[in-house]
Amino acid sequence: MTTYGVTPPVSLANPTPKEVTLNDTLVQELKSRGSFENEAAARKRIEVLNTIQKLTEEFVYKVSKNKNMSEGMAKDAGGKIFTYGSYRLGVHGPGSDIDTLVVVPKHVTREDFFEVFGEILKKRPELEEMAPVPDAFVPIIKMEFDGIPIDLIYAKLDLPKVPRDLKLDDKNLLRNLDERDLRSLNGTRVTDEILTLVPKPTVFKHALRCIKIWAKRRAIYANVFGFPGGVAWAMLVARICQLYPNAVGAVIVDKFFHIYSQWSWPQPVLLKQIEDGPLQVRVWNPKLYPNDRLHKMPVITPAYPSMCATHNITASTQKIIIEEFKRGAEIMNQVVAGEKTWSDLLAKHNYFFRYKFYLCVVAATKDNYEEHLKWAGFIESRLRILVQKLEVVEGVSIVHPFFEIFAHSFKAKDNTKADELIAKYGTHDGDAVMKELDKIENPNKDEINAEDVPVHLTKMYIGLDINLNPKSDKKLDIQKPCSEFFTLCKGWATYKEESNFIQIKNVKVYDMPDDVYDEDETRPVKPSKRKKDPLKAQNKKRPKSEVAAA
Ligand code: ATP
Ligand code: MG
Repeated sequence: MTTYGVTPPVSLANPTPKEVTLNDTLVQELKSRGSFENEAAARKRIEVLNTIQKLTEEFVYKVSKNKNMSEGMAKDAGGKIFTYGSYRLGVHGPGSDIDTLVVVPKHVTREDFFEVFGEILKKRPELEEMAPVPDAFVPIIKMEFDGIPIDLIYAKLDLPKVPRDLKLDDKNLLRNLDERDLRSLNGTRVTDEILTLVPKPTVFKHALRCIKIWAKRRAIYANVFGFPGGVAWAMLVARICQLYPNAVGAVIVDKFFHIYSQWSWPQPVLLKQIEDGPLQVRVWNPKLYPNDRLHKMPVITPAYPSMCATHNITASTQKIIIEEFKRGAEIMNQVVAGEKTWSDLLAKHNYFFRYKFYLCVVAATKDNYEEHLKWAGFIESRLRILVQKLEVVEGVSIVHPFFEIFAHSFKAKDNTKADELIAKYGTHDGDAVMKELDKIENPNKDEINAEDVPVHLTKMYIGLDINLNPKSDKKLDIQKPCSEFFTLCKGWATYKEESNFIQIKNVKVYDMPDDVYDEDETRPVKPSKRKKDPLKAQNKKRPKSEVAAA
């Protein structure tokens, strides 16, 4: 018998009839939430990938010929695409992109990828949109091809040809590559290996679909903001599959919550023993590297060089994630007992009701949209640093970043109006200013009159749980972490004082703008107003946490 993972399984039990039924209801729930795509859509994706494979070979051939290779050598040079991300794991939905890696032989450069391949793609009638981002951490061509969003990344191997039967599992392929090539190969190498490390891929996929929906509904799915991302959630589920190799998806979900709510962090979650390899690169090792000892909930990628996929988790986000595991375990007990259903497990978070105070970090740009995306992206990627600075302020017990950003673009008639919008955006008062302005509906494309001032805004929220000692006369002081954060942001390599703006606002729970709530949610009301209008307040359904916060 094969043993999967670093310990023997907990149980080899086959599912009981009751578990099979529970699993049927899980699959039903996933279907009703639109998790699966239909067969025609699945065929379409395969068709598109076949086309991209052909175009990749055409690309490599063309570059080879340009570099004076013979017809025969140019034909043999090959080129091969691989996928990673949710499509590769088999947990994508109808709207998901296909994360695609283009692997080429050593004479085909990254510049060739953006220029020559870019041109080949542009000539295709299927190409609907294309946005090359050559200077990203992982350089990428984002496009929509035949109705399907595709993220194309590039890696070159130190080989004269890349045949169709090439596999990426051999770590010797990583020799002599630059860092960007290594990063690009990593996605496919990790997802491929995860799939070989789970006993029953179908069971793994069902359980992972459920956990991904759950993590999004509970607002704890976001690598940048200190929560696990797609790969980390996949590995967490995969480990449970290893421990219960014969279980159905529903049982894996149940065990997932029970095991992780009691896990002795920072003990790492491993899918296999960490391997050594031929490169001068760091492999995760807390015995050797003090930084790795700081990881609070390590989940380690299986492919060499192993890394921690959850190094972004902070003290606060750890608490929040563990609370969610506990909630999941309790609800699953009731689901198994027939007292609750899967939709109870997947109920929406109450983030915008649960704290009294929030900070709203606003990144704004009075320039074109492309400039804004860079500026906002920079701030987004640094938000965790603000979270960590706030976590150590006396009287602050939880610093809770929201897992998604909000973005808007407007045309202002003059600078004064633009500045007013930037000043109020993110608060209830901002709603009124937004109503007075013309929206830029499609910032990617829309042309703007020269006399208008374009304002692009992105906001991120951080909930604060404050726990000041009532006997002490100390006040909460978050000035210092905020001003340090400003300094850090304004130190951005291409920061421009006249067009890039960063603000941090204090927003009380009843001063939130409307867009953070769903239509069926009743906004929290200011306590004094509530007293004046008790009947109205009683008629409204308000979550308990919000009443407690008021
Ligand atoms: P979806 O179904 O929404 O596409 P996904 O898991 O495929 O889900 P993507 O956003 O498409 O998520 O990302 C695919 C993969 O790309 C991730 O699993 C990860 O390996 C890598 N990735 C994406 N964004 C980042 C990032 N900011 N940092 C590191 N890796 C990233
Ligand atoms: Mg994807």
